Amino acid sequence: MNSQTFASTSSEIHLMRLTKTYQAGWQKRHLALDSASMWIRRGETISVVGPTGCGKSTLLRVIAGLETPDSGLVTFDGEDVAQLTPSQRGIGFVFQNYALYPHFKVRGNIAFYFRLRHWSEASIDSKVRETSRIMGIGFDKLLGRMPRSLSGGEKQRVALARCLSHNPRVLLLDEPFSNLDATLRLQTRNEVKKLVDRFSLTTVFVTHDQHEAVAMGHRIAVMRAGEIEQIGTYQELYGEPANMFVASFLGNPPMQFFSGHREAETLVCDISGTRLRLPLPVPNQMHVAEGEALTVGIRPEHLRLTTAREEPGLPCTVEMLETAISDTAQVLHLCHGSRTFCVRQELQQSIRPGETVWLRLPASPLYF
Ligand code: ADP
Ligand code: MG
Repeated sequence: MNSQTFASTSSEIHLMRLTKTYQAGWQKRHLALDSASMWIRRGETISVVGPTGCGKSTLLRVIAGLETPDSGLVTFDGEDVAQLTPSQRGIGFVFQNYALYPHFKVRGNIAFYFRLRHWSEASIDSKVRETSRIMGIGFDKLLGRMPRSLSGGEKQRVALARCLSHNPRVLLLDEPFSNLDATLRLQTRNEVKKLVDRFSLTTVFVTHDQHEAVAMGHRIAVMRAGEIEQIGTYQELYGEPANMFVASFLGNPPMQFFSGHREAETLVCDISGTRLRLPLPVPNQMHVAEGEALTVGIRPEHLRLTTAREEPGLPCTVEMLETAISDTAQVLHLCHGSRTFCVRQELQQSIRPGETVWLRLPASPLYF
């Protein structure tokens, strides 16, 4: 097993207009997937993010063949896989709950698949050794241990090793780090990322954590209520969100919104009773009609503050300062009347809660 064999076994996957409903009580059906389409390139990692219940696990189970879609098509390398079982599809599936065989040692957990296929003991032994080498430092020490004696992170390494030993065409990871504490989570995530990148494994990684999604995926798919809202690199999703849901899902703190309208070359914003006039950014002048009601979005890192009065500025009271760990920024929580704002900026020691600051809205980047 070397990087060559993996690259050549990895698949390109197309999901076309997948719909899946579940019975949800008497005569009611719940739409878990709503015409979801996606193309996953060979060797690519796609992160799927979205709130709990939006259909992420259902999507993985349909790719794996553990669920049959009501309609739509799944192809691996152009071939319709509807008639193939998960094992015929060549799926490696890692769940949040490790699903190791509790009565086998780690070695037996890896060997089981090959025993079922009547491999010789010598070939199985060499397969286990090879897998252990790929998993890297320290893995050989786990081989003789029972699953109950392993930590969460070790169990997840074993689950992954077992998957990789089968040369999967696609690796499906369903919130695999959710049961790990923060440090272990980061370590395990980095290890998985190195492995899937090194072997160019086609991977679909499901999480509800945007940081994990960005760290793991070459591209990110944002899901809501069974639909895929947008797919792209983090830069694309952050810079050009397709809608307010994507805009508010990525970013920390998220994008904030207020209403406004266009008057000639100015943008007039109504914020809790105060009117602000800003020059309308040139690219937006083309497609914003006079008087049309707008929702304006702004990211907390693009807002600017001054402690002295400045026009056109919005006087706000500082409610709270939040220091971000491993970051030279801080988040200020402000209010103007009933309206609250978050601003992300360089650490500035002089601002205190209760003070008045002047909030400056930039002419760009604003989102409409
Ligand atoms: P996620 O993984 O994003 O949290 P799921 O794919 O597990 O979401 O579920 C999507 C929706 O489908 C949820 O509303 C869930 O309650 C429903 N659902 C999932 N599996 C079943 C099932 N086996 N029977 C009935 N409803 C289900
Ligand atoms: Mg799930």
